Amino acid sequence: MFFHSTRGKDKDKTFEQVLMQGLADDGGLFIPDSWPKVDIEKLKKLDTFLDVAKYIVPMFTYSSFTDHEVEEVLNNTWHDFSQKDFIKIFDIDESTSVLELFHGPTAAFKDFGLQLAAAFFNKSLQAQNKTAVVFGATSGDTGSAAIDACKEFESIKSFILIPDGNMSEIQRKQMTTVNKKNVFPILVSGTFDDCQDIVKKGFKERNFLRDDQYLLAVNSINWVRIIGQICYYFYASLKINALSNPLNFSVPTGNFGNVFACYAASKMGMPIGKIIVAVNSNDILDRFFKKNDYSKKIVSETISPSMDISVASNFERLIYDFYLNRNSEDCSNLYKQFPNQGIKINDAMWQKSRDLFMSFSIDDDSTFESMKFYNNKHRYVMDPHTAVAAKAINILKDKLKNQTVILSTAHPAKFPNALKKADISIDEIPNNLREVISKKEVAVHLSASDDSIFNYIKENN
Ligand SMILES: *Cc1c(COP(=O)(O)O)cnc(C)c1O
Repeated sequence: MFFHSTRGKDKDKTFEQVLMQGLADDGGLFIPDSWPKVDIEKLKKLDTFLDVAKYIVPMFTYSSFTDHEVEEVLNNTWHDFSQKDFIKIFDIDESTSVLELFHGPTAAFKDFGLQLAAAFFNKSLQAQNKTAVVFGATSGDTGSAAIDACKEFESIKSFILIPDGNMSEIQRKQMTTVNKKNVFPILVSGTFDDCQDIVKKGFKERNFLRDDQYLLAVNSINWVRIIGQICYYFYASLKINALSNPLNFSVPTGNFGNVFACYAASKMGMPIGKIIVAVNSNDILDRFFKKNDYSKKIVSETISPSMDISVASNFERLIYDFYLNRNSEDCSNLYKQFPNQGIKINDAMWQKSRDLFMSFSIDDDSTFESMKFYNNKHRYVMDPHTAVAAKAINILKDKLKNQTVILSTAHPAKFPNALKKADISIDEIPNNLREVISKKEVAVHLSASDDSIFNYIKENN
């Protein structure tokens, strides 16, 4: 199976090419040429998360790696989790469960996608005897998960731009306290959008790279991250009802990567009820699902900072696959004027949303309310991102058929200020977070100018 771009021009790419390239040459996003189909009966016999991953991942990688190679990679991929099977499922009541995806080393779900990315980056670099620079910007958890996933691989140097601003102190410290020779956190006086612009420019100019060196993207458009996330949807379905009945999934989302992985799992044969798209007051996705209006607005800062986005980059994949029935010319045209002009799709096509999607925008007050509600009523402490998805379920509860799974994307201890404001205390702080809090921060401060940042990378590369 090969991959092609949602905009049609970049195609016939292998898994390894897509992995190392990130964004397609025509500006689109890579997607598999067809959806691989799982054999549900076979899946039902599996037990652990790793079993499931060993079944799912090779379906996407065989254009580049043998099943045996992939199995070897996967045996060492997910590490430093505090749960034996990586994930815990907490039952709120008989119809609602929480899928806890935050037991990894950085206490957010991004460890699943980025540890898989790093493992395959390393596999590919070793085979080619090359080195790479990871260059990215982060508004929250991407940077720490990328740094942690890559830090043990000597062939990879990570340069991560951290904007002044809304991330929690722990989120920032997870990047600035690593203290490794191949890790370079860069504090930037500027916004996340400034940082992203610089990263984009860096990927164009590439003037800080040495000869024959890869520049790797870790943002959520890299297909390999989606693969890692598809695995836990199948795992949840296996554990909750042995893949026998459709489940609803409520997903707190920003860039739509996590929701798209859920959609992808359903295309591969996972039984699905509704996919609930839960956003904070940065509501571009909610405006699309409610009013067919996908237009960029200024970002507002919320207490769920990892979802503070102005556009949802992975959404292009859904437009292409679900709404446009894979017509790349139409997709190209829609994105030509975006974001200067908003996207509105043909009304008849847009109506399809109702079969599968529901959406909610939850503001900070309601998010606090949600954290308090689940703490008081169910003795369950959740982080503000999870609380956004949980609030949506609270509103919907009586309307939903089937069981519902709330995706919990971060450990609550990562957001102590939000907990304090909601008047909630927690007894256990995971060891990895406790250590981070007491360590000394080491990071360079640079202005939001591409020259100074590119020079810094060049000097340290
Ligand atoms: C990144 C992140 C999200 C949003 O995930 P997307 O894949 O961008 O939708 C939600 N919650 C937390 C805690 C995150 O770190």
